[in-house]
Amino acid sequence: MESRSQMKVYKYLFIMLFALFFVAACGENNSGEDSSNHGVAQKTFILEVPKISHNSSLQTDLDIELTGHVNELSTNKYVDKVIKLYYGQWKDQLSYNDLAVQKVRVTKKNYKGLYTLVKTAADALEVKMPDVFIAYADQPSAYITNVIQPVLVIHSSLLELLNQKELLYVIGHELGHIRFKHMLSMEIVSTTYLALNLIPTDFLRNAIGNIAALSFLKWSREAEISADRAGLVLVGSKEVAAKTLIKLMSGMSDDLMKIHGEVDIKEFRIQSKKIEQAFILKKINVLLTQVTSTHPFIGSRIEALYNFSDSAKYVALLSNTKKIPIELVIRK
Ligand SMILES: [Zn+2]
Repeated sequence: MESRSQMKVYKYLFIMLFALFFVAACGENNSGEDSSNHGVAQKTFILEVPKISHNSSLQTDLDIELTGHVNELSTNKYVDKVIKLYYGQWKDQLSYNDLAVQKVRVTKKNYKGLYTLVKTAADALEVKMPDVFIAYADQPSAYITNVIQPVLVIHSSLLELLNQKELLYVIGHELGHIRFKHMLSMEIVSTTYLALNLIPTDFLRNAIGNIAALSFLKWSREAEISADRAGLVLVGSKEVAAKTLIKLMSGMSDDLMKIHGEVDIKEFRIQSKKIEQAFILKKINVLLTQVTSTHPFIGSRIEALYNFSDSAKYVALLSNTKKIPIELVIRK
């Protein structure tokens, strides 16, 4: 009798242990499911994007002026032929082949989500979808290369730093460069700049060269402001645009901000404005850095975006919009 009851106890103990093991295993499975989708979920957002019939409703005045001259020049049939032959048949091809052997192309099959994001943005801004390549690089950045067949290159580190809405802003900015034909203007200006080497006198060549370089840089900064507006109309939020630009400056991702605290746009704007309002001699170094840069300071870009979003131009754009659904991956 005793041994029989002992057997019963062992049996129950065994069943209990088995049940405990089963529950623990199920628990592990559940947490496994969470990590397998990396704590992210897909959500549909509706983008309300203005119908942009004229580029001039987004570009800055100086940008309109310069790209206008270039576009005028390229309407000449001989210039157009040279551009198509030189860039279309040769230079663009060289650069494309270089990308194709060193970087991975984003297609419907490679990184489908990113492909869809760029495609949706291109359709929304009525820009022909460019070829897209991913570059393995530390500096969070994206850029457009090539003139006739523009290519969008996205650095892998940009995807780590930004969430998808912010990434959409950057993609919109880059597509803005395509829409405003900035690459052609940049190429023509830099080719003209090379022609300065034909000036025989050193002094004259340097003097004209420096003036030309500064004018080119000024236009380049204006082109950035125009492209920022394309990003803004795509995401429809000056706060998203500002946060993206601040992230590009600080390198602080959402994960890092969860540990160290959020950034406050208002606080950042005060920081930038203090320098702007400083006495000229106290910011001479800042001014020199600015006039010799291709991009405006992030603070200036954010101010330009806020001013534009308060302008009559922007309000007019918002009176005629289209609704575009987009699937974005968000962190849970
Ligand atoms: Zn740009």
